[in-house]
Amino acid sequence: MKLVLATQNPKKLKEMNEILSHLGVEVVSEAELGVRIEVEETGETFTDNARLKAMAVMRATGLPAVADDSGLCVDALNGGPGVYSARFGGEGLDDKGRYTLLLEMLRGQTDRAAHFHTSIVCAFPNGDELVCEGERPGTIAFAPMGEGGFGYDPVFFVPELRKTFGQLTAEEKASVSHRGKALRAFAAALDDYLKGNE
Ligand code: IMP
Repeated sequence: MKLVLATQNPKKLKEMNEILSHLGVEVVSEAELGVRIEVEETGETFTDNARLKAMAVMRATGLPAVADDSGLCVDALNGGPGVYSARFGGEGLDDKGRYTLLLEMLRGQTDRAAHFHTSIVCAFPNGDELVCEGERPGTIAFAPMGEGGFGYDPVFFVPELRKTFGQLTAEEKASVSHRGKALRAFAAALDDYLKGNE
């Protein structure tokens, strides 16, 4: 089966192909099909946004399409920045600017609890849909640590590992991250779905 991944990011394509290769599923990117869909992420939840992207790509290509949406939810910010994680603080900020703003907003705050969330939605042309989610609880550090990863990784601390995401290798992060969990859940759900439709 051929599945389109709603992304322009070659790393996400490679990662998805690796996790689904044993199911006999070939994952191709929008670019390989000559499609580039820009979807406004207007949803109130990660799942809503992933669904908006997956449905748009499924309709444009006529193939089953999978999309993901992730973000950081901080308890003391009532779950923010949440679906606004990529846009937190406005257009002018880069990753470092965003996590620096987050640290400033939490200055003096003792409740540092937070979690990362990923939703993956796969939309099929026959109307079927698979929804998988992954969460990684942790805390917001008091200062950035580590150079690895991207986004909020240097300030997201995993108490069990006594390290931030920024201090983990890519493999270590994938084994404990929200995204890794959601991807493994999706591989299992797709396997079940394909077996059920044999
Ligand atoms: P996306 O939906 O995967 O593009 O993630 C949206 C935004 O959430 C990113 O731009 C990051 O700011 C943040 N984010 C999601 N996952 C991670 C992660 O694993 N580490 C750090 N930041 C993340």
